[in-house]
Amino acid sequence: MNPEGTDTADESPGHYCGVAAVFADTSLDVQSRLFYMLFAQQHRGQEACGIAWRADDTIQTDKHLGMVSARADSWLSGKVSSGCGIGHVRYATHGGGGLANAQPVLVHCNKGHIALAHNGNISNSAALKETLFSSGSIFQTTSDSEILLHRISCSTETGKEAVLRDALSGVEGAYSLCIMWDDELIVVRDPMGFRPLYIAEWQNAWYAASETCGLKALGPMDYREVEPGECIIIGKHGIRSFFLPSAERHARCIFELFYFARPDSNIFGQSVYLARKALGAAIARNDNITPDLVVPVPDSGTLAALGYAEEAGIPFALGLTRNHYAGRSFILPTKNERELAVRMKLHAVEDVVAGKRIVIVDDSLVRGTTSGIIVSLLKEAGAREVHLRLSSPELRWPCYYGIDIPTREELISNRLDSAGIAKLTGADSVRFLPLEVMRSCLNAPENEYCCACFDGKYPTKIS
Ligand code: AMP
Repeated sequence: MNPEGTDTADESPGHYCGVAAVFADTSLDVQSRLFYMLFAQQHRGQEACGIAWRADDTIQTDKHLGMVSARADSWLSGKVSSGCGIGHVRYATHGGGGLANAQPVLVHCNKGHIALAHNGNISNSAALKETLFSSGSIFQTTSDSEILLHRISCSTETGKEAVLRDALSGVEGAYSLCIMWDDELIVVRDPMGFRPLYIAEWQNAWYAASETCGLKALGPMDYREVEPGECIIIGKHGIRSFFLPSAERHARCIFELFYFARPDSNIFGQSVYLARKALGAAIARNDNITPDLVVPVPDSGTLAALGYAEEAGIPFALGLTRNHYAGRSFILPTKNERELAVRMKLHAVEDVVAGKRIVIVDDSLVRGTTSGIIVSLLKEAGAREVHLRLSSPELRWPCYYGIDIPTREELISNRLDSAGIAKLTGADSVRFLPLEVMRSCLNAPENEYCCACFDGKYPTKIS
């Protein structure tokens, strides 16, 4: 299905989020620009959205629980003009939700007015928080983003560059940040480069966004990737960039490519659309059956299914219809609720699937709920055989960098092998894409990409 919900633990709500930023020398309609950029990145977070903008000598915020479209009347009204703004969309979570955790987080401290929008999870947040608690820090949210603001405020350095270097040293894990610090915009990507972040100069203004689709929402701008470890400060006096100490390796998140990002985005130097098609083609090359039809699980399996069908020369059919008005199934607490939600969302098209031997393609298997129901739906609609193909390997490990993956016990691949999953779901066969095949399709070597959810090799210590 589509990206639908994230959380790693109640204490450290996932930041499976999207960020956006605008800076111009003159005042412009910052709110509407952020609206369009966030709207284009809605798939990165649906629980909450918010913007912060420079107003006179201070910063104001407007945060809201729910979708970006609900703020259209206000943010598109054109009533506020300003030279700088940042925005955020936040993913739904089991715990740690609510308006208190919505971003941007705004503080007034000894260093000035600072608003921060964060995508990613800090993997040593527990240890960093403990240190801050013991020196008397008070937190308003359960989000790990606030740690960064405390560290900025506590720094004894002077000057933004020195303070940022100091505040971020020792912070591990994923952070793609848009920060408004008084009248300047700061854009930062962690040294391992877990989450994407892009910047562009267009029509006398600077823009930043998690995904290129967020930038392109405004117009045909040329963008570049913010490099891992790069900090960019944009102000009245121009733009300057410096680098945090480099990491031993990079750790771009493989999940962004095969599942999370929007297909029209270019992430980590490659087209998300083409990457997903290549994964599908690789499944077809390694498959041992010749079905009558290839059917995607909409929308997450669509491109891999297209790649499979093209590679195998087998007809592609939308044998499952998705009801776009249905809510989120992934984060519902009980199996029963998740099952009902999948049944509300997906429907088999009898006239297309009856009597056919079908390969269904999805991007991943998590708890196994979706695929079990899909197999039943297709068989109830008369499909003769249903073979399940996944465009990723077996998910076995939780993510500490911002992707919502349940506990190890809940992950079906920790309990059952392919034959066991086939038996449980009623599929005639189940096949995953081996990790080395995925790595080679996506040109994702071990020292450049994080695949910890598949192999348990975490690029940082977790505390
Ligand atoms: P499950 O039903 O638990 O096996 O979940 C599999 C479905 O959830 C697939 O359709 C995936 O596209 C989708 N999915 C995978 N990972 C995530 C995630 N982190 N958040 C939300 N949905 C996901």
